[in-house]
Amino acid sequence: MRLNTHFSIILLLIAFIFWGGIHQVNAKVGTWKYCATRYVDACIQVVEGRNESVFSFLSPFDHEITLTVTLSSENTASDVTFPFTTVIPNSGQHKLFVLKRIDVSRKWKYNYKYRWNWGAFEAIHDDEYVYSLPFAVGSSHKIMQGFYGSFSHHPPVEFAIDFAMKEGTTVHAAREGTVIAVRKGAAEGGNDPSLKGKGNVIYIRHDDATVATYAHLELGGVFAVPGQWIWRGDPIGKSGCTGYCSNPHLHFEVRNPVDGYSRQTIQVRFRTDKGTLSNLRKKASYRAVP
Ligand SMILES: [Zn+2]
Repeated sequence: MRLNTHFSIILLLIAFIFWGGIHQVNAKVGTWKYCATRYVDACIQVVEGRNESVFSFLSPFDHEITLTVTLSSENTASDVTFPFTTVIPNSGQHKLFVLKRIDVSRKWKYNYKYRWNWGAFEAIHDDEYVYSLPFAVGSSHKIMQGFYGSFSHHPPVEFAIDFAMKEGTTVHAAREGTVIAVRKGAAEGGNDPSLKGKGNVIYIRHDDATVATYAHLELGGVFAVPGQWIWRGDPIGKSGCTGYCSNPHLHFEVRNPVDGYSRQTIQVRFRTDKGTLSNLRKKASYRAVP
């Protein structure tokens, strides 16, 4: 009996977690907006008629994002299949799809959930590009965690690199691009998975539409400003240990979305004092060269 009660509570909790991000519409005529805030508001707008609902995305971003909408519904048909993934190229209103009521004599209803990711899932990384190490020319840093690092670099971040770096070390852009977003208010950091995704970070969009992440920057250590063009080698911030971080370091990755929910990281090549390398080895040190 006791066990059953516990089990029900757990089920309720699971249901709550799962349904938390879902918006349910019970076919009410009108225009509805549902906004999720990550960095800024990004909203789905539904214009609902008696037998048809038109979905749009209201993007605040002047660069690509990849959006995925999942749907569960009764008595509806659509012009797309779900989960529906699309690239939203720029800011403004973008039509997504239409849901139609199949049998107009019966009730219809639907639940949808959406999430977005930086970048375009169809982007193809320019593998010819040789990245600079993300620190000052002439200085060298040790690799704390390389590709497939066992502490936290499991897929999808298997091609991320952690450079050991004293707090306050200047971080330089590894490749030129536009700053698309930053998070800079974080003071807290530690070896605690609940701090994942909470550190200070800079995202830079490259010409091939892939995105670089520079993470765990110190409080007050984000110089780059969204919208700013950055050249390779430009100082963009100062390293730290904010977010999910056991020792001060810079986490660097180049990424591309798989869909709105997940991303993949990309194996890139660096120019180093030991030549052009695509796999920096754990515990080895590399010096940045011009
Ligand atoms: Zn890392």
